[in-house]
Amino acid sequence: MKRDFDLVIVGGAMAGAGAAALFASNAKTSALRIALLEPKPVTAPAAGEPLDLRVSALSRASQRLLELTGAWPAVKARGAAAYQRMVVWEERATPDGPGALHFDAAELGELDLGHIAENRAVQAALLERAMAEGVVLLRAGFASLASGDDAIRVATTDGREYGAALVIGADGSDSAVRSQAGITTRGWDYQQRAVVTHLSCERAHRDTAWQRFLDTGPLALLPLADGRVSLVWSTTPALAEELVRCGEDEFAARVTAASAGVLGRLEATTARASFPLRLLHAERYAAARIALIGDAAHTVHPLAGQGINLAFMDVAALVDVVGTALEAGDDPGELAVLRRYERWRKAEALPAIALLDGIKRLFYGGNEMQSRLRRAGLDLVESSGPIKRLLMQRALGVAGEVPASVRRPP
Ligand SMILES: Cc1cc2nc3c(=O)[nH]c(=O)nc-3n(C[C@H](O)[C@H](O)[C@H](O)COP(=O)(O)OP(=O)(O)OC[C@H]3O[C@@H](n4cnc5c(N)ncnc54)[C@H](O)[C@@H]3O)c2cc1C
Repeated sequence: MKRDFDLVIVGGAMAGAGAAALFASNAKTSALRIALLEPKPVTAPAAGEPLDLRVSALSRASQRLLELTGAWPAVKARGAAAYQRMVVWEERATPDGPGALHFDAAELGELDLGHIAENRAVQAALLERAMAEGVVLLRAGFASLASGDDAIRVATTDGREYGAALVIGADGSDSAVRSQAGITTRGWDYQQRAVVTHLSCERAHRDTAWQRFLDTGPLALLPLADGRVSLVWSTTPALAEELVRCGEDEFAARVTAASAGVLGRLEATTARASFPLRLLHAERYAAARIALIGDAAHTVHPLAGQGINLAFMDVAALVDVVGTALEAGDDPGELAVLRRYERWRKAEALPAIALLDGIKRLFYGGNEMQSRLRRAGLDLVESSGPIKRLLMQRALGVAGEVPASVRRPP
């Protein structure tokens, strides 16, 4: 089978665009011929255009990937906002009393804990850098796969076919690459939706990410560069529906009350939307000539802002593994090579998934007794240096084995 490309990446949102840009710019993999398949048009936000509804908390490790690919200046120019602190508290506690957790970048000697960045800016900047490095953008959908011994063939929705050494599935939670590869998943619907909008706030956010665990789900206020905060309110589908549909004054009253007035009166400054939440984990991240990254491999609850950060570390680990294989003269699509990627990333992702799912369950629902236990647990973490440090390192994305392709030089 003829190889038209070395890599075909299916899906050009943040994970797929990140893979295209890092493979194309890393010294060990930059000679690869890469195609990226994405049917939806992507345009970089114009200067002065209002901030899109979807933003993400990016870890320091993710920032490093964006810096190394050359995408960071454009993301920063779109107002990516550094946050220095994080405050987490339980519904029956107060942000500055017992039952609250405080993370501060200064405790780790870091400048910040991460940045809140616009998804669309991240995706567009990575795509632009990938194309500048020679990645071919194919404006079509993925249709099917056919495996051969020395290549894999990708058929697209516009009737074309491309042979490749390796196909990377970055096509999200409902990955067609994953199902075509026969990879099964485990997981469940959380029966929750996340309501998102940007809010003006009466009191300054103080470059702090605020998260209150309500019995019906966590409410997060992420600081934006223009003084507003981005809301991610995970709640029951019925309440989410009401919150998206109710009038502006009612919404302002409800979100202000739900955040316990921590930033004074909050008012929506943009449209409101809600997204379904689920947990999904692929049984395998690799098959012969196929690797899964991002939400195609693992979809997690947004409560700790881990989804895209896990995805970017998948990308970096895959670049490391493929780079090492190329140096050794091995075929990057061989299952033995891809299994190394799978073992590495499963070992990192599974504990993160278990932790997020555990937190979600621990803080969901409950009575006064459970609430007391939760507050005691938060107090324990607050007073325990090592556990708190580990959680902060995880938030920064510097816990575990950081791939060489995004590691800071010593
Ligand atoms: C409300 C909310 C808040 C969140 N906040 C955070 C946060 O603060 N920090 C964080 O790290 N994560 C966060 N996440 C998670 C994060 O948004 C996701 O993990 C991340 O966007 C997944 O990116 P992806 O590229 O893997 O998948 P997706 O964004 O789902 O992209 C998949 C891409 O594949 C393309 N595609 C699909 N099918 C095909 C096909 N057949 N052919 C070709 N292309 C195809 C699609 O067009 C799309 O572009 C949040 C999630 C939610 C819901």
